[in-house]
Amino acid sequence: MNEKGNLSINSENFLPIIKKWLYTDKDIFIRELVSNACDAVTKLKKLMIMGEADHIPADEAFSVHVVLNKEEKIMQIVDNGIGMTHEEIKKYINQIAFSGATDFLSKYEEKADGDNEIIGHFGLGFYSAFMVADKVEIDTLSYQEGAAAASWSCADGIDYEMADGTRTERGTTITLHVSEDGEEFLDENKMYEALQKYCAFMPVPIFIDVMTNEEEKAEAAEPEKKDNTIHISQEEAATLTKDEILAKANKDSEEEKQEEEKEEPKPLNDPSPLWLKQPKDCTDEEYKEFYHKVFFDLNDPLFWIHLN
Ligand code: ADP
Repeated sequence: MNEKGNLSINSENFLPIIKKWLYTDKDIFIRELVSNACDAVTKLKKLMIMGEADHIPADEAFSVHVVLNKEEKIMQIVDNGIGMTHEEIKKYINQIAFSGATDFLSKYEEKADGDNEIIGHFGLGFYSAFMVADKVEIDTLSYQEGAAAASWSCADGIDYEMADGTRTERGTTITLHVSEDGEEFLDENKMYEALQKYCAFMPVPIFIDVMTNEEEKAEAAEPEKKDNTIHISQEEAATLTKDEILAKANKDSEEEKQEEEKEEPKPLNDPSPLWLKQPKDCTDEEYKEFYHKVFFDLNDPLFWIHLN
């Protein structure tokens, strides 16, 4: 007897397979979700370059935020990338092992010019979220003009629910209701360590945001009162002219502004690593810093060679 057919997998058996055999290290889930978020931004940037997303401002600031809420046992991965429509969730999330990354590359094969900046490949990574979460939710708004926000949620890795989403800004929020298996990753240091391990050179700025308790949140929300007083001593006041006092006030506010600018949060990753730059654009300090970071050696390297 001769018979042909497609192999099938029962979804109830699928999650245990992912948990036990596909990924040996639990912390891999963060690499998978953050790389999906970075891919979402890379795809949108590519569409902008191809002239297929002209409504997005050219100087748009892209980022990925990992939000940790220990009290609520919630972790969110938030990006402002390409987003998904209801139909795309069905296609890319509900069809396990169907890679939206590969689909995107084949769709734009000619225009994308064979580059390989998109990380995803197998269409499995998203489900690694269930290694550390009982319930996973997606809230997303596609970059397409007039798109409606869409949501998806799944509590056991088997049955899902889809509905209208709540996102008002383009991009995707993945919410993990963290299980006992994943509680350690709600710790900022543990998360920082995992992100440094896997995401240190991903191409989009990555930030960790820690949600604090109610009291601290209220304090943080209260704007600091600005001190508009010009600080000069009595002696100075006696010797300075009115113009000199005004010049001093301007200088002080300029310094304050620079101080505020300095405080802008820095991403934990390096979105444009040395190997993507030309040697002429790299300083000795950058080479040394790269060596210290990658090889965990506080000494300076003896020499370096730059190969692109
Ligand atoms: P892969 O990344 O290998 O394609 P995944 O299982 O990790 O597979 O994700 C499946 C697909 O779901 C992705 O290819 C992408 O199309 C879509 N997706 C997942 N996360 C996001 C996100 N944050 N933004 C937009 N699309 C996403």
